[in-house]
This record gives sequence, C-alpha cells and structure tokens, in this order.
Amino acid sequence: MDKLKEKWSEVLDIIEREVTAVSFDIWFKNLKPFDVSGDLITLEAVSTSAKAQITKNYSNLLIYAINKIFPDIKNFDIIDQEEKANFEKNRNIQQKEEPKIVRENPFNKKYTFDNFVVGKSNQFVYAAAKRVAEDLGVKFNPFFIYGGVGLGKTHILHAIGNYCIENYPSLNVCYVTSNKFTNDYITSLTSGGKELNLNFREKYRNVDVLMIDDIQFLENKQSTQEEFFHTFNDLYQANKQIIIASDRNPKELTGLTDRLISRFQSGLIQDIQSPDFETRLAILRKKAQLEHYKISEEALVMIAEKIDSNIRELEGFLQKVCFYSQLLGKDETTASDVTDSLKEVVEQNKKAEPDTILSCICKYYNIKKDDLIGKKKTKEIVEPRQIAMYLMTEILPDLPLVSIGEIFGGRDHTTVIHARDKITENLKINSDLKTQINDLKTLINDNNF
Ligand code: ADP
Ligand code: MG
Repeated sequence: MDKLKEKWSEVLDIIEREVTAVSFDIWFKNLKPFDVSGDLITLEAVSTSAKAQITKNYSNLLIYAINKIFPDIKNFDIIDQEEKANFEKNRNIQQKEEPKIVRENPFNKKYTFDNFVVGKSNQFVYAAAKRVAEDLGVKFNPFFIYGGVGLGKTHILHAIGNYCIENYPSLNVCYVTSNKFTNDYITSLTSGGKELNLNFREKYRNVDVLMIDDIQFLENKQSTQEEFFHTFNDLYQANKQIIIASDRNPKELTGLTDRLISRFQSGLIQDIQSPDFETRLAILRKKAQLEHYKISEEALVMIAEKIDSNIRELEGFLQKVCFYSQLLGKDETTASDVTDSLKEVVEQNKKAEPDTILSCICKYYNIKKDDLIGKKKTKEIVEPRQIAMYLMTEILPDLPLVSIGEIFGGRDHTTVIHARDKITENLKINSDLKTQINDLKTLINDNNF
C-alpha cells in the first residue's frame, strides 16, 4: 500500500498536465488511493461533489493516467468520506467474524472468450482453447500456443482461466509467467531450505490447471527447467491440464532441453498469426464498444489500415486517439483526429524509441546510460553497447547508421556496422545471447506504448 501511495503521485502528475490548475486543485489534489483488489482500484475523494465531478467529467482521463502507471489496473471506483467510513466498519466486522480465505479471480475480467474477436488468423487457436476449457485434461494435453508479441496469447490463457472460474469454481487454476515460476523457484531454494522447497512443490503440483505464459524465458535456465519438467510430469500423469504460451514453435526453442520440447510436442500445438484487415477492424469495433468510445466508422477503418503490427499497438492507439479528442471536448473521434495522432506517433517514435532501447538495455544489464553511450571499454559495457546498436538497427531500420553513431557519443557509423555484424554472427552460435536479445525485445515492446 505504501508503494501504491508513492506511485499514485505519478498518476496525479499525468492528470496535472492535462487539466487546468484550478480543476486540478479542486478535484484531484486530494484524491487518494484507498484499496486495490484484482484489477480494480478504489479511490477516496474528499467530498461527494468531487466524486461526482470526477466520475462525470474526468473518468476517461483518470483511467488513462492510472493505466499508464499501473498497467494491471483496468477499473476504478471512487468513494466519498461517508462511504469510506462504512467500508472500513464492514471490513473490520468481516475481519473479526470470518477470517475465511476467498479465492480471488486472478484473471483479467476483460480477457474472455466473448471479448475475443475471431478471424482467419486466430480461429483455430480460439476453437482449440474452447475445447480445452470444456474438456480439461482429456483431449489436448498439453495445449501449446505460439505467436508473435501482442497477438492475443495471454488473452486466450485468461479466457480459459475465466471460463474455469465460472464453470468449475472448485478447481485450482494456476496462471503463471515463466519468469514468476523461475523467481518462485529461486526463492524457494535460497530463502529457507527444504521446507520452502516443499511449499513451492505444493503450490505448483496441487493445481488442476497449470498455465504457463511466455515459456521462452525458461531458455537456458537449466535447473528451473528441470523443476518444471518434474512439475509437468506430475501434473500430466494425474491428467491435469497444462497450457503453455510461447513466442515461438517448440522446435525453435533451442535453449530448452530436448525432453521438454518433446513433451510439448506430444500435445496440441496451435499458432496464432497477425490479424488481417477485417479482423483488425472487428477488434477495433469491439474495443470501442467495450470502452464506450465514441468514434466514427471511418476513423476505425483508417486505424485498421494504418496500424498492422499487432493488436496491442492497435488498442493502444485507439485509446490514445479517443482520449485526446475527448480532452478537446469533441463528441466523436473522427478520421482527422486519427490523421493528427498518426503524425504525432511517427514523430514521437523517431525521438522516443532510441531512448526506450537505451533505458531497457541499462535496466536489463544494470548499467548506467552514461557508461553505455560513453567511452568505457570494459567487457560489462562493450557487449551491451554492441547489443544496443544491433537492436537499434533491427528495431529502427529507418534510423540512419550515422544517427545511431551520434547517439553513442558521436561514434563513426562503421563502428555501428561492426557491432551489428558481430552480434548477428554471435547469434548464430550463442543461444544465451539469443535469449538476451529476445528478452530485450519483449522489454522494449512492453515499454513502448
Ligand atoms: P500476447 O500475449 O500475444 O503478447 P495479449 O494477449 O497480451 O498478446 O494481447 C494484447 C492485447 O490485444 C490485449 O489487450 C488483448 O485483449 C488484445 N487482443 C489480442 N487478440 C485479440 C482478439 N482476437 N480480440 C480482441 N482483443 C484481442
Ligand atoms: Mg503475453
């Protein structure tokens, strides 16, 4: 909660930039986080009128700002002081009377089968996922989904999860990213010896459905893979359903042991592809309807035409353009708003992306930006620097090599070419490097919208 309060000021900073100083002082300055549960944040307003004003006039702005700082939070609720007092009274009573454990639904409520738009690119994944959910542990076990970033893998896993919670409330359904699984495993090893290790096993081997997302991050983590292999076998033998998502086909996961890959290949493997124009448009219509955006059909068509990379970007752009036109007081977002925002995105990307790449590299290797772009020649710095140059040429093919050299303290463009070629060559033989590059691409992508 303390951390929440600390980060709340960042939400207020965003809002402060978007509203007049007076509105900010009256309505937002004293708005505070009160509680978080699942993807819902409850906020506390000083007065009933502040609550009413914010809900009526600023709810899109508020959710936009909250979502920027807390990506997992999707909804908010505001309570005034009287409601707060009642809430706390009830909470005290509940805590005293029945300390019972309520199994929280850990799944994003918006990621359901109903909200998943089906088109040519994902119809097989969708059909298979529904069959898996209806017939757990029977037909397709394990069920392996793979495809590029932002194409709906996590959405499908959550849809299965939501379906299970609704239809089989007594089942223990576990969703975990492979990074979380790794961290849990490492914690169990380092912080308490045998007992905690047993806790870890109990947690993962007592589930009825295990979903593991982004399995590619287990590449080259030998002992975690070993542990996962045993978890997998235990669950499989007990006919428990296992569902896995990955950015690649199992046979391309070269950093995983052969025995794991062959386990994955023994079930159903289904890929998910980039959506075609019709599916993109249908997704935009669905999102606009779910979020109550007022936007013209022409504007939706234009977005669907222009943004064809992935669905996460499509959605991010829709949110942004609707938010800005609403800020300008327009009743409906039109094609000309889309044109303006597209120009802005191109401009911003030109400036923002090299910076995002640099900061992700610094975060990943735990080094300082000044060192990364500076003159140091130690191994800890030189390799990340070459990787940064390589990633810039890969991710920003239109950025001239001379400009990349400039970013790195005015180095010559031949240095950039050398770095790019060296990393390209190393990638062919060094699977650890491949994992690092893949991790970084995901990190950069996640930081970009
Ligand atoms: P991935 O896990 O493949 O990187 P996500 O599942 O996180 O991608 O999807 C990114 C965003 O796109 C999510 O907000 C998700 O709801 C949305 N999305 C993806 N596919 C669809 C679809 N077919 N219909 C509706 N929304 C989708
Ligand atoms: Mg995902």
